Amino acid sequence: MNITKLNQIYEGKAKKVYATSDPAYYIVEYKDDATAFNGLKKGTITGKGVINNKMSNIMFRMLEGKGIKTHFVEELSDRETVVRAVKIVPLEIIIRNVAAGSFSKRYGVEEGRELKCPTLEFSLKDDALNDPLINDSHIIALGVATEKELEQIRKLAYGVNDALKEFFASIGVKLIDFKIEAGRLPDGTIILADEISPDTCRFWDAKTNEKLDKDRFRRDMGRVEEAYHEIFGRITGKK
Ligand code: UDP
Repeated sequence: MNITKLNQIYEGKAKKVYATSDPAYYIVEYKDDATAFNGLKKGTITGKGVINNKMSNIMFRMLEGKGIKTHFVEELSDRETVVRAVKIVPLEIIIRNVAAGSFSKRYGVEEGRELKCPTLEFSLKDDALNDPLINDSHIIALGVATEKELEQIRKLAYGVNDALKEFFASIGVKLIDFKIEAGRLPDGTIILADEISPDTCRFWDAKTNEKLDKDRFRRDMGRVEEAYHEIFGRITGKK
């Protein structure tokens, strides 16, 4: 692709975003920086940026193959990818298949309990407020998204869940829960953006329930890099 990387327009906790010579595209660059608990815990997971970049791109390609529109355009290097320029809807869109993390704490449910159906919840992306849970009517009342956009987002989230659950089951991994973000194209179309990686999903080994995701960093469990490599190895080994 014949575009030039220009100025950095945003730096998040795990990625930097750059403008390019074509306003329809950004370049994202994945870092090894890891944070948890809204930035209270900081660290580095060596090689994470490369794995999250390549793994997200594999997931986006797989989802595109199932008719789900994503921001993915082209992998440029180990850490850099061209994506479609979108305005991110400031929501963390969370789907859960099995209870874990904040859900388990909030409702007093043991981690690992299978849910009778997948759940969908939203948090408002706002670090200063600690990403509070937000319901559908609040989202519409505050103008964060319209009812029509919410409907598209729900469809997107459940579609991603169906595809990812099936994919990970085929490599011996249980998809416990995950977070996605949606973006608006200039014409208003909602597409899948951000990343799909062990930073944003919980993955448990299907046989042993071993955690293969960022919880190993959040909870100081050790073998963090190994978990990222294990997941990536299973994905790429599959071909
Ligand atoms: N998640 C994320 N970013 C966040 C919060 C959550 O990617 O800022 C992901 C997390 O990795 C997990 C899912 O969303 O796969 C559900 O997370 P939960 O609400 O249980 O929060 P946590 O226990 O991680 O605080």
